[in-house]
Amino acid sequence: MRMPTLRVIEIFDSLQGEGYWTGVPMTFVRLAGCNAAETGLGCARWCDTPGSWSAGAGEELDVSEILGQVRLPRLCLTGGEPLLQSAGVVPLIAQAHGRGIKVHLETNGTLPPPVDAALLESTGEVLFDWAVISPKPPDYFVAPEWEGLVDELKLVVDEGLGAATAERLAARHPEAIISIQPLWEDPPRPPVSGRSPGDATTPDRPSRLSPSEHQAIALVMEHPGWRLSVQTHKYLGLR
Ligand code: SF4
Repeated sequence: MRMPTLRVIEIFDSLQGEGYWTGVPMTFVRLAGCNAAETGLGCARWCDTPGSWSAGAGEELDVSEILGQVRLPRLCLTGGEPLLQSAGVVPLIAQAHGRGIKVHLETNGTLPPPVDAALLESTGEVLFDWAVISPKPPDYFVAPEWEGLVDELKLVVDEGLGAATAERLAARHPEAIISIQPLWEDPPRPPVSGRSPGDATTPDRPSRLSPSEHQAIALVMEHPGWRLSVQTHKYLGLR
């Protein structure tokens, strides 16, 4: 029987740069294709992976060829939108689990989670070991099938993300860790006078926070159960 295949942009080892698992080594598997244009998402202007948008980009690899390149105990499926290839993602995860590899997912949340009915029935477990949903403007839509299954909601702070939207999403996903992430701004940064809205900056040094960072810190300071997520891999020059 022919092995399931997936369209893969790149596979590389690095540290997780964002969110709850920041600093933990993972093998990243970036899948081809993104549905932002067809679903009207407003994230293209700050997307940092435009090379993954085309469904025909990258190369076709079967599950064992992909797993043959996974040398770390955690694999992070990212994109693009990885769930566009759910038919290949399900056997990939099953075989990764068979090798003792934990599987993380980064998705925009527009597509429902694939369900492995046999796994759910026999163990009560869902497919992913860690599911990060990063809903996008303007509607911040998350497919209803994700309710109760989200480990982490990662909300990128652009001009569309107000406190009310973030609070609505957090209330809908009480099971999730809420990570508030500023937009990345390439240094050098313009100096910003004054302290951050949450008074979290050092008072005797001028703040160099971007408007998005100011807003992200203010949101977290107003919601102490939430946390700030910065893109540490970019600060360090990692992939
Ligand atoms: S959904 Fe993700 S990959 Fe697609 S354009 Fe938006 S940020 Fe980029």
